[in-house]
Amino acid sequence: MRVLLVEDEKEMVAALCNVLTRQNMIVDSVSTIAAAEFMLKDNVHDVLVLDRQLPDGDGLSLVPRLRANGQNIPVLVLTARGDLNDRVAGLQSGADDYLGKPFAFEELLARVRALLRRPSSVVPEVAKMGQLMFDFAHREAWVAGERVEMPRREVLVLEALMRRMGRMVQRATLMEAVFGMNDEIDSNALDTHISRVRRKLSDAGAGVTINGIRGLGYLLRETA
Ligand code: CA
Repeated sequence: MRVLLVEDEKEMVAALCNVLTRQNMIVDSVSTIAAAEFMLKDNVHDVLVLDRQLPDGDGLSLVPRLRANGQNIPVLVLTARGDLNDRVAGLQSGADDYLGKPFAFEELLARVRALLRRPSSVVPEVAKMGQLMFDFAHREAWVAGERVEMPRREVLVLEALMRRMGRMVQRATLMEAVFGMNDEIDSNALDTHISRVRRKLSDAGAGVTINGIRGLGYLLRETA
């Protein structure tokens, strides 16, 4: 899952990035409404965490514009102003949820997870191929009742492949799923992650493998 965080307080950004990243989420952060609007054009984010007090205005003003463009990304609004009127204004603007500062990080995570589970998102709960079951809600791979342990980026690679199983997934799509815009990207890193996932699936007896299609992308498929 990829989160766009719009917040200008550096300490808050660092803390939120840390919390969300530990939950296997990819976080892109920007500090202005204008930058957020630019990033959202790509439609690659699964949830938007939006502060209200931003250098170029009230973050809330972004939400009606998104909705008018038909972008239904779930939006969680953060603000120091947590009173009822602000809450109502937030929800009326088309935001999905509203969290007053200060808040506990557990609370933020619970809200983000709830937004990601909304029925409007088209992500299925689980997908199966061969002996492999991927649980999208918890980001876990299971084979024959055993969880396949993988670090974050490997899980993200597998998740992207499972979402489009049986079809080739382009390198660019995989790169986008696995690396945030702030990451240093080594061009071989994706291939390294892929080979590790492939080996783990094989060791676990998943009955699926990842085929590389030279220069273009990768495909997850059942082994004979
Ligand atoms: Ca702020």
